[in-house]
Amino acid sequence: MADALGRPGSDGAVPLNLYRVSRPGMSRVIGNERLTPEGYEDVRHVTLDLSGLKYRYLEGQSIGVLPPGVDENGRPQKLRLYSFASSRMGDDGSGRTTSLCVKRVVLPEAETGGVFRGVASNFLCDLRLGETVLIPAGRTFLLPDDPASNLILMATGTGIAPFRAFLRRIYGELPGWTGQVRLYFGVRTRAECLYRHELESYRAWPGYDVVYAHSREERTESGERVYVHHRMAERMDEAWSLLNQSTTYLYICGIKGMEDRIDGVLAEKARAEGRDWDLLREDWIDAGRYHCETY
Ligand code: NAP
Repeated sequence: MADALGRPGSDGAVPLNLYRVSRPGMSRVIGNERLTPEGYEDVRHVTLDLSGLKYRYLEGQSIGVLPPGVDENGRPQKLRLYSFASSRMGDDGSGRTTSLCVKRVVLPEAETGGVFRGVASNFLCDLRLGETVLIPAGRTFLLPDDPASNLILMATGTGIAPFRAFLRRIYGELPGWTGQVRLYFGVRTRAECLYRHELESYRAWPGYDVVYAHSREERTESGERVYVHHRMAERMDEAWSLLNQSTTYLYICGIKGMEDRIDGVLAEKARAEGRDWDLLREDWIDAGRYHCETY
């Protein structure tokens, strides 16, 4: 089924592999906006025009970006995946654009004393007006169809991208999402909180709440940096009662390792409830109710 603009529905008609590395589609950059203040890490909202392409995507899918040039071995650069940060309709509602949330990777190199620059992230962050190459991929991180579904969304940093797309879809484009939505968002500082204005605006919906973990500005009672799993632990009774409903879906996106800590607090709760977390999580994965995309 398609929606009013002919975009694919979330009924399983997921568009996959319309374009490949060997047969890439070209998009035009129509926006590149810095999301973080000067003096902090450079995170950008890059908007692409997909006009002329058969490209279709759903919230939660990723796009392949093929940086130009060759790697250190003289081979063509490999594609890198980024989650769509817009809903299928694009930020302008035309259904012909998409946007990505990209952090410029620049890391000090201890051995050389120089810096490592991430190839794809620097390519994207430096784009002005030009072309990039697209490959659709990823199928598992999709929204459930039923608008009565509850969503628990756990994000760190640019891992907010697919959740921004989810929220724009469910509150901006669908007729009415009645399920509960809890967003836990971990960022270093308040100043670096990506899309805060948008995330706050959904508070007008009765079923929505967002909780932040500002790791470099807040501490737990035992003096640790505050992360999303700490925030979940503080609200565990509510989270647990939601998670035990068959209509609740848990999504984790962002930094590798965050899922272990989230599993840790959930395992602790499961133990206290006399349940086996590993079995429970397996059931949730089988039922499509536990999704994790961390890199
Ligand atoms: P970041 O700014 O380095 O970190 C975001 C927050 O996560 C910080 O508050 C950080 O705390 C915290 N954090 C660090 N380790 C954690 C852990 N084990 N558990 C919970 N929180 C933790 O994040 P980023 O550079 O934006 O990186 C986001 C990650 O998401 C990247 O690995 C990226 O590949 C991945 N991702 C991106 C996309 C996309 O479309 N762009 C999609 C999916 C996944 P401290 O640093 O203060 O300790």
